[in-house]
Amino acid sequence: MAQHGLHLEQIARVVISHGHPDHYGLAPLIREASGAEICIGEHDAAKLGGDSVLMATGRLLLEQGMPMEELVDMGERERGLGDLRPTIGDLRLLRGGERLESDGFELEVLHLPGHTAGHISLFHRPSGSLFAGDTLLLHISPNPLLEPDPTDPTERRHSLLEYIQSLDVLASLPLSRVFPGHGPAIDDPRGLIDEMRRHHRERADDLAGMLTDDGRSAWQLANQLFANLEGFDNFLAVSEVVAHIDLLVEQGRAEPVEREGVTYYRLPPSRPEDS
Ligand SMILES: [Zn+2]
Repeated sequence: MAQHGLHLEQIARVVISHGHPDHYGLAPLIREASGAEICIGEHDAAKLGGDSVLMATGRLLLEQGMPMEELVDMGERERGLGDLRPTIGDLRLLRGGERLESDGFELEVLHLPGHTAGHISLFHRPSGSLFAGDTLLLHISPNPLLEPDPTDPTERRHSLLEYIQSLDVLASLPLSRVFPGHGPAIDDPRGLIDEMRRHHRERADDLAGMLTDDGRSAWQLANQLFANLEGFDNFLAVSEVVAHIDLLVEQGRAEPVEREGVTYYRLPPSRPEDS
């Protein structure tokens, strides 16, 4: 900002793309300095309001077969990093479809769930520029995270199914340049969208090949798919597996079964009359 002759005190509005600490950690400091309003997608607001989403996510991980001691270890490692998640109140909630006016330009709010439930991106239609947050990233596929359903925290979102729909929305927009939340700008958004679709199809196919008749938990599949998982990577890996199994379930290529509070995924029983 200093390079552009601007000061922190001039910021009138902070728009948080989604409720992950690497995307909102400085928001309280900016508001303190400038009195800026802070906006976030309505379905991500709870992530800024304390530990309830984390607790609900922990329960979901146990349901996916993560052992309790791994969950405890992950929590302890995170606490060791210090307080990364400031609690922020007095938020302006965005649902998507709003237009945010600034000096001389206007940005459209797009609700693009997938990576998180309430992820929003900002679109400058005249130039085709998109401020994408973690919706599109170069060289990384945004993880479709395991998360409680914001409208019913006892249920789980179907993150990848949401993300694939968000990719369809992105593909329908006249995008010229995408500015992601991490890494360099994306000059060929259409190519990247196609690459994302292909990546998710291939990963789902890989997982389909690992399913058995008696079923495996997402935890077991994650450890088969990724070697030497530790700490937070466990969460990412289980999320990755669950998200792609959801795709297989939707396609009739996998079937969830519950045993003693843990969900196992198996090949659907063969239907001889269909073959
Ligand atoms: Zn994120």
